[in-house]
Amino acid sequence: KKFVYLFEEGSADMKEILGGKGANLAEMTRAGLPVPPGFTISTEACTAFYEAGQTVSADIQQQIDAALAELEQKVGKKLGDPSNPLLVSVRSGSVFSMPGMMDTILNLGLNDETVKGLAELSANPRFAYDCYRRFIQMFSDVVMGVDHYHFEHILDSVKEARGVKHDPELTAEDWQQVIAQYKELVRKETKQDFPQDPIEQLKRSIYAVFLSWNNQRAIVYRRINKIPDHLGTAVNVQMMAFGNLGEDSGTGVAFTRNPSTGEKQLYGEFLINAQGEDVVAGIRTPQPISALQTVMPEIFDQFKDISTRLETHYKDMQDIEFTVERGKLYMLQTRNGKRTAQAAVKIAVDLVRENLISKEEAILRVDPDSLDQLLHRRIDPNAKIELIAKGLPASPGAATGQVVFDADTADKLAGEGKKVILVRPETTPEDIHGMVASQGIVTSRGGMTSHAAVVARGMGKSCICGCESLRIDLRAKQFSTGDYLVKEGDWISIDGGTGRVMLGQVPLIDPELSDEFKQLLEWADDIRKIDVRANADNPEDAAKAREFGAQGIGLCRTEHMFMAVDRVPIVQEMILAETDEERQQALDKLLPMQQGDFEGILKAMEGLPVTIRLLDPPLHEFLPNLEDLLVEITKLRMQPDSDPELLPEKENLLRKVRALHEFNPMLGHRGCRLGMTFPEIYAMQVIAIFRATAKLQQQGVDVRPELMIPLVGHVNELRIMRELVVEKADQVMAETGLRFDYTIGTMIEIPRAALTADEIAQEADFFSFGTNDLTQTTFGFSRDDAEGKFLHQYVNHKVLPDNPFAVLDQNGVGKLISMAEKLGRAVKPELKLGICGEHGGEKSSIEFCYKTGLNYVSCSPFRVPIARLAAAQATI
Ligand code: ADP
Ligand code: MG
Ligand code: MG
Repeated sequence: KKFVYLFEEGSADMKEILGGKGANLAEMTRAGLPVPPGFTISTEACTAFYEAGQTVSADIQQQIDAALAELEQKVGKKLGDPSNPLLVSVRSGSVFSMPGMMDTILNLGLNDETVKGLAELSANPRFAYDCYRRFIQMFSDVVMGVDHYHFEHILDSVKEARGVKHDPELTAEDWQQVIAQYKELVRKETKQDFPQDPIEQLKRSIYAVFLSWNNQRAIVYRRINKIPDHLGTAVNVQMMAFGNLGEDSGTGVAFTRNPSTGEKQLYGEFLINAQGEDVVAGIRTPQPISALQTVMPEIFDQFKDISTRLETHYKDMQDIEFTVERGKLYMLQTRNGKRTAQAAVKIAVDLVRENLISKEEAILRVDPDSLDQLLHRRIDPNAKIELIAKGLPASPGAATGQVVFDADTADKLAGEGKKVILVRPETTPEDIHGMVASQGIVTSRGGMTSHAAVVARGMGKSCICGCESLRIDLRAKQFSTGDYLVKEGDWISIDGGTGRVMLGQVPLIDPELSDEFKQLLEWADDIRKIDVRANADNPEDAAKAREFGAQGIGLCRTEHMFMAVDRVPIVQEMILAETDEERQQALDKLLPMQQGDFEGILKAMEGLPVTIRLLDPPLHEFLPNLEDLLVEITKLRMQPDSDPELLPEKENLLRKVRALHEFNPMLGHRGCRLGMTFPEIYAMQVIAIFRATAKLQQQGVDVRPELMIPLVGHVNELRIMRELVVEKADQVMAETGLRFDYTIGTMIEIPRAALTADEIAQEADFFSFGTNDLTQTTFGFSRDDAEGKFLHQYVNHKVLPDNPFAVLDQNGVGKLISMAEKLGRAVKPELKLGICGEHGGEKSSIEFCYKTGLNYVSCSPFRVPIARLAAAQATI
């Protein structure tokens, strides 16, 4: 079996075997681009390594030796040859790119002898010893486990002794001194000498790369990004290109388009006389890629040309690493660049306009979930802000939170439900859990391609980098900037789109859709075959939903209308009424108010269907809390001079609250069970709906009410409620002399309703799957208890693949839905079907709804664009 491939033997479609980096190096080599030659040890070799008990088999070792020999022959240098040494990098690369997660070793092949050869060959001893000290540090860190801060410490003290600030100011002799101290350090820390045999160096590095697949930060990254653990990593061994040979050399990274906004322009950074990670490490501040045009005009033109070629070839924005060695350009990596949602949308639409991809491909390019970032709030441009610092706009979006200075605290406070913003000099892969927990991230060092920036963009978090005016004191847990001093726990707000850091909690406002976003959604609308409605309870939300493209309201809850401060007393009057007469009096007061509610929402949705659900929650939700009431009564009893009428009133209330108490309200007296026992409540709501309908129709407004009966479990419930609705409709038609259309349907949210959907369909014009309750009742989970107590563990231990309240359980709950679809439509082929649980805005659930033949999904107004895109993806 073949485990090792020369770059010229691979291609981009071999990612599974060569890893992303190796496959793209091969593809670039084939395309004739200037790539330093090398070979890739496959991911299958990694799997074999683990299967053999963490060892490289003789067969694989032989293949590696053969590939190395070919490489040596091709470039005319030999690993370990003091007169003409080959130096290589050893780079990990898995199928999915895991930036910063795995370790790379540069300048491998150097030892006390070969370094002299390199010094002579390059006529640049300073360079040779610089390479050697880098190699010792990287190898010792990655392979031998000597922490890199030890090395930094030595370097700092030598620089201080020499009175210099920057690495390039050190001479060859200085580096030799550093190297001696490094070797001494390694001996002390590991009780071994630094390995001098290049063959041994290579073997141990390959082992280390394989082992790094299972280091802690790689495991965490895979868990967060749902990357399977079994894939393994490939190892790339590649001849070195030297960016640290002098002023005519350098290294850089660039995106073919702006990864933050999507704008079409080369975007990146470079450093003259530097190697490898120097650009992202934040040691020296890099120059913008545009400056390369003046520093090395020919290289710039060549690079620009190649990057355009790569983008056209891959038909996507590329993230490219390059190095210039004595005026010659080398390509070291290309991959599809990570980007913000905003950039993803713009790039996808632009690529269609540039005829590089189809509309369908554009639709598939954007992850619906990532759109969440664009649909979230941003800083109110009219708000008064107190700007305290400005940094690089590394990842857009606004955030506000309390300042924390380390990842563990961020994680802890977020766990307590606090909103935090992580402020660090820079971030490393060890900070990932803290970044996940934060609303946003601010760093004082590093550029647009620093770790913080790349990771934040991937997570869709607001991030500001290189905020150089911040003087962060990690020990005192505070930072100062200008005249401001900000301590841990203080509130700040950040705008990752502009780089502004502001003091306090700045008000945020609703988002607007960019032209490209609207375009992409229009394409999605042309393709999708399932409608998208919104769940909205008031005219403002309805208007927002419409603006986002909702085709109607799938769920208008009426209980919130009862919660308004001025209505609660009347609602309580209704609930507390001792006689039918008293109850009717209260209902008569509520009727015009409800009519007003319905006029507002029906009008906002003119021309579109509005599904109005009659009262659903148990009545005690409208009454005061039992404990609060007891405290109040106790206080009243101890105050003899209080209003004499108040105490009996409260005691009466207490009796009612106790009487309405339920052992299990979720399964108690609610939904249509209220309509069955208090028909006058539903009657009031129905009359209000129809009077609103009649009035608007008279004004020439096209209204389409759909009345929905909740929590039906038996067809008789629906039959009786239907009779009530029809009777009230007839009554309003008689009193107004108008005719109007309406439909009557039911929620399917009790398993029995799904099981008897054929019976229920006879009384229903439509079904709306209330998957929140249907999930509760199918699993027998009470959501509030489950999410707080055990669901988390179920998901972590893979007892359940996902939280079933977020992602529809297709095998269980989904089976009830498709059963209800079949039973219902067998009786009534024109039966309209929709979903109004929160799953209506989740992509895999939307795909399921489409495949099951539902007519629409309904979700929160802010998720409507997400659902439109996901619905289109479901059909492709
Ligand atoms: P990562 O996956 O973390 O980006 P890489 O393997 O790409 O790690 O390497 C880290 C750094 O070393 C990058 O800046 C890369 O360009 C540089 N590098 C890797 N191999 C070589 C090489 N053969 N010559 C010069 N620089 C290299
Ligand atoms: Mg890289
Ligand atoms: Mg329900």
